[in-house]
Amino acid sequence: MTAQVVDGRSIANEILLDLRGRVHTLHRKSVTPCLVFVTIGASPPAQMYVHRLERLAEPVGVRVRTCMLDDAVSVNELEHQISVLSADETVDGVLVQMPLPESLLNARLSTLIYPRKDVDGITVHNAGRLYLGQSGQLPSTAAAMMHILDHCDVRISGSHAVVVGRSNVVGHPIAELLLHRDATVTVAHRKTRKLAELTRQANILVVAAGEPALIQPDMVSEGVVILDAGINVTPAGLRGDVQFEGCSAKASVITPVPGGIGPVTNAVLLRGVVRSAEHRHV
Ligand code: NAD
Repeated sequence: MTAQVVDGRSIANEILLDLRGRVHTLHRKSVTPCLVFVTIGASPPAQMYVHRLERLAEPVGVRVRTCMLDDAVSVNELEHQISVLSADETVDGVLVQMPLPESLLNARLSTLIYPRKDVDGITVHNAGRLYLGQSGQLPSTAAAMMHILDHCDVRISGSHAVVVGRSNVVGHPIAELLLHRDATVTVAHRKTRKLAELTRQANILVVAAGEPALIQPDMVSEGVVILDAGINVTPAGLRGDVQFEGCSAKASVITPVPGGIGPVTNAVLLRGVVRSAEHRHV
């Protein structure tokens, strides 16, 4: 079988094109959607990420600002900054650089970010809505994966979906979303035994573990749909969690790394900011 290799950049461009029209309407009402990325300490990867978002957002008409906090920032100061941004009428999205340093793990981000501005779905409000199957701001990577499945006309209802990884930002939310669309969902994690026996049963295999080449060709069945969220810097370059060459020979649909889920995630994130701006005065 030759897999359909998902062109994430092209899907992202479609989303961004739609956003341009919506932002144009907002500009006419003097509303400029604005995302604020809160960084802690000097982090070259975080800075690169912000520049990537800025380059993507600028032609769409979305403003991206950075709120740079010192790496010695206290829990109180971080919480104060988040409260200020949440209350700021001109801010539509607040994104905090993750993972947080150990010293800030107690910060109450999951309750302080105003739900409309919680564009990566990290608050208890949005996580609760996701759990209940109600609309809200979703974690962008999980929302991007659902967008890709629909874009590729993948049948979700009745499928067996196996999700490898259960983090609050990727594995857990995508498992919930698939369940709400009537998939039968199995979630695997570091303590799961006989992972290959599970992954071989998958019609849809989602991998978000952060381990390069964790999924080998003998761990998947013919015709499987593979979504690879992994981002791993290896000596051979950026790689996902799936051994691409061998697995793509068996899959019906597969996302590459880079160029698969990543670009769609960024576009979906901006869509969350625009949606939030559209609700500013509602
Ligand atoms: P995390 O470290 O918070 O969680 C990893 C999960 O994978 C855990 O639940 C862990 O139990 C599980 N896991 C790890 N090794 C495993 C193994 N050998 N077998 C079974 N389960 C295993 O990571 P995360 O934040 O969810 O990110 C996962 C990957 O996705 C990373 O590579 C990250 O860079 C990437 N990511 C991509 C995007 C995107 O937009 N494409 C967004 C966020 C994260």
